[in-house]
Amino acid sequence: MHGTLPFLNQRKFPIIKRGNLHTLQINIGLKCNQQCFHCHVNSSPKRKEKMSDATIEAVKTFLITKNIDTLDITGGAPELHPEFRSLVKYARENGIHVIDRCNLTILEEPGMEDLAQFLADHEVEVIASLPCYELENVDKQRGKGVFEKSIDGLKQLNSVGYGYSNSKLSLNLVFNPQGPVLPPAQDELESAYKKELLNRHGIEFNKLFTLCNMPINRFGSTLVSNNQLDDYMSILVQSHRDENIENVMCRNLISVDWQGYVYDCDFNQMLNINLSDNEKQIHISELIDNDVEGDVIAVRDHCYGCTAGQGSSCGGALTA
Ligand code: SF4
Ligand code: SF4
Repeated sequence: MHGTLPFLNQRKFPIIKRGNLHTLQINIGLKCNQQCFHCHVNSSPKRKEKMSDATIEAVKTFLITKNIDTLDITGGAPELHPEFRSLVKYARENGIHVIDRCNLTILEEPGMEDLAQFLADHEVEVIASLPCYELENVDKQRGKGVFEKSIDGLKQLNSVGYGYSNSKLSLNLVFNPQGPVLPPAQDELESAYKKELLNRHGIEFNKLFTLCNMPINRFGSTLVSNNQLDDYMSILVQSHRDENIENVMCRNLISVDWQGYVYDCDFNQMLNINLSDNEKQIHISELIDNDVEGDVIAVRDHCYGCTAGQGSSCGGALTA
């Protein structure tokens, strides 16, 4: 899926190097209570892969040794990992900001009744996908019944103090388009989301992040089946903006898979592109005594998904 397309030979993605490493993103496990169409990690309730205790210990050591500011925990549904809560507690006790990439419906699963309060007690930032404020669009992309459960999850988070402008508890939503198009302007869409979610459901949140769909894995396969991959890649390449390169997430982040292997970002992780194009996979335990700052990042065609239009990162658009 990440092979170079013919027209891209004329335009290679620019060389980029890592700057200050301040964020460690970990994929703690692939199990998820959902199975979304666009999922770039192909998660589902059937997946069993999860981070071992030994790797979690290596992650903890890395956080402290490297003075990491932010631990960004993804999955799957990260909250399903048995050590999710102990890891969050450890990071918070050491003054590290924690992000939980929460799918919202997990808050409605049996056994998760106290999850919202746990997240609030530890001041975890919640970043949650909600691809639309319309039921039909969300259920189409994420599965039947997902919209209503997501709304209930958001209400739970509001009820423990998340999402209000004067609150320390950040609740940020993520939008990605339904098909092979760029997302609309982030500010305008955020205003529409705020108005609609408040008026229809009484829900408040802090920010909306707009993300491009990456032409890889499940979404990429669908593009291939529909004969849309070339057109979508053309859109991404033609919308590339150099000013986004400074802020692509791989410049300040590395991504760790459930086995502990390290990549330049989670998209590269899904494509098995080793950190900085090293010949062999590198485990996080090997990096504790080595620096990655200044290293050349492994880039491919999909990187245009980060620099097209307003740009995309784990924190949404990169430019106004
Ligand atoms: S909720 Fe997230 S991790 Fe789970 S299947 Fe959907 S996109 Fe993948
Ligand atoms: S896809 Fe990954 S490596 Fe490529 S620009 Fe985006 S964050 Fe960087």
